[in-house]
Amino acid sequence: MVDINFDSNTAIEDLDNLDFDFIIKAVSNKLMQNEIMNWKGDKDKQSKLRLYTKVKDSYNTEIYVSKNMSKSCRSFIAQLRSSTLPLNIEIGRFQQKPVENRFCPCCNDNKVEDEIHFLFNCPLYAGTRNVFMQQVKMFYPNINMKSFIEQLQVFMNDPNIICKLGAFIRDCYFIRNTYIYSIKK
Ligand SMILES: [Zn+2]
Repeated sequence: MVDINFDSNTAIEDLDNLDFDFIIKAVSNKLMQNEIMNWKGDKDKQSKLRLYTKVKDSYNTEIYVSKNMSKSCRSFIAQLRSSTLPLNIEIGRFQQKPVENRFCPCCNDNKVEDEIHFLFNCPLYAGTRNVFMQQVKMFYPNINMKSFIEQLQVFMNDPNIICKLGAFIRDCYFIRNTYIYSIKK
């Protein structure tokens, strides 16, 4: 078997002994390695993708992309995933507010309204969160033992839970906007 060094520019002279299946496999592997290296490098550069960098640790198609679910649920998951869901952490970026002042408008906890506060802590969504977590606990009875990021990894990667997560985010966001609208009146 001929050993192929892809990092050298030397020509392969012993063509008769080349195994083409092997070459194709080796080239594919090399391309995939490069792709993964590029992906990791890009991922680290994108500081705005707060959750993405924490939750996404492997190179594969995400379940919510292929799973059959409503357009709105898929969209909410994608927005949460890419840190573009309009929470104050994101809205404040456009208003050039310091991060530490981007408080949650829906409670008195004096916490920055980021994705973790929204999903796991804000008391405004306690009832909805409780219903969602009961569903999760049917599959993961000890989910509370995990950190929030680990829980989110479970939600995102389990085909039984991903649709429920989408509905949970959608419902909470509806409650959020209804609440903000009601206090502005
Ligand atoms: Zn809150």
